Amino acid sequence: MNKIPFVTKEQLDEITKTYPTPFHLYDEKGIRENVKALKEAFSWNPGYKEYFAVKATPNPFLIQILQEYGCGCDCSSYTELMLSDAIGVRGADIMFSSNDTPAEEFALADRLGAIINLDDITHIDFLEKTIGHIPETISCRYNPGGLFKISNDIMDNPGDSKYGMTTEQIGEAFRILKEKGAKEFGIHAFLASNTVTNEYYPMLAKVLFEQAVRLQKETGVHIKFINLSGGIGIPYTPDQEPNDIRRIGEGVRRVYEQVLVPAGMGDVEIYTELGRYMMGPYGCLVTKAIHEKHTHKEYIGVDACAVNLMRPAMYGAYHHITVMGKEGLPCTHRYDVAGSLCENNDKFAIDRMLPEVEIGDYLVIHDTGAHGFAMGYNYNGKLKSAELLLKEDKSVELIRRAETPADYFATFDCFEIGKKLV
Ligand SMILES: *Cc1c(COP(=O)(O)O)cnc(C)c1O
Repeated sequence: MNKIPFVTKEQLDEITKTYPTPFHLYDEKGIRENVKALKEAFSWNPGYKEYFAVKATPNPFLIQILQEYGCGCDCSSYTELMLSDAIGVRGADIMFSSNDTPAEEFALADRLGAIINLDDITHIDFLEKTIGHIPETISCRYNPGGLFKISNDIMDNPGDSKYGMTTEQIGEAFRILKEKGAKEFGIHAFLASNTVTNEYYPMLAKVLFEQAVRLQKETGVHIKFINLSGGIGIPYTPDQEPNDIRRIGEGVRRVYEQVLVPAGMGDVEIYTELGRYMMGPYGCLVTKAIHEKHTHKEYIGVDACAVNLMRPAMYGAYHHITVMGKEGLPCTHRYDVAGSLCENNDKFAIDRMLPEVEIGDYLVIHDTGAHGFAMGYNYNGKLKSAELLLKEDKSVELIRRAETPADYFATFDCFEIGKKLV
């Protein structure tokens, strides 16, 4: 299988007349079709709601598209809460799933009426001291520990992760919260990341549903919702089989009917906090080849760098690359595709077979729509790129301008020297 960009070379030739590379480009049509399919897959659950994980793609224009389909926001920081508030996502449309939470963030979440999802049992006291009460609706994050396996495959290692409460703690937390006046309870867990299998959500659902039955029995609380969080992945490599969201929704329904319905809990609402799955495939980083270098290896130097997309440098993550206009040509050349940071891990691809790249060629780096721009930083004083939206009618809208040196120097503006820079 090959990966086909959602934009053509002809379109890029047009777009780059107005917006120079590098930039992140998003596909409105893809985002809309995907969110529709997700809602459909969980339509068997009347209370179903997706809270988009804002950290994946914190752009209000994109989140507003999801908002049209009834999505809320999953936030975990002060500015993510501000962003949600600014687009009118408030109250129970915000899930505040933070950890190691500063007091002022709990305070803002409470002012906005967000559902607060506690990461730790000690946060009960911390929250109460901070906001002066315990909210009527409250959620707790669960971490069963150990390894999370599907058949014999280790999916992830919850026992080694900082998030959530143990089995004993979550029971105790529910008892304390109930005593302090909480009325409606939620359970949340995020046990594996970027799963490319239809089995993850149903397996996770089983773990959480069984906990929910136990907690409801032992503590007598009413469980209003179960939040399956994020973790549904996308196929970054061309050989991976994409997840089938209908099968995933169906798998969760089966477990719901096996575990919750017989326990008299057929009113539980299912929530998700997907990030990657909502946006990942519907964004790409467009960059231009500006140098070729022939030393101990063959290099293509591009005008983007790890500041624009950190995943390859940070995790060695694979991102597929299409050399635009050369889609049909054989991959005869082995390249390292490098950015300009003074940091040898600033490579979008290592030993990647591509058609021969010439200076001026546009390279589309796929699947940057989530955890792409968002993870950007400013090392070497490099500036963050613009974000553009390719609309359904094929027009292009600027949805974030590129940073300028003045943005980079803005935090010196209170000093004499800063005034020369901004
Ligand atoms: C990061 C995160 C998500 C989204 O994860 P994806 O892998 O992008 O789906 C959801 N919930 C929480 C609490 C997170 O930290």
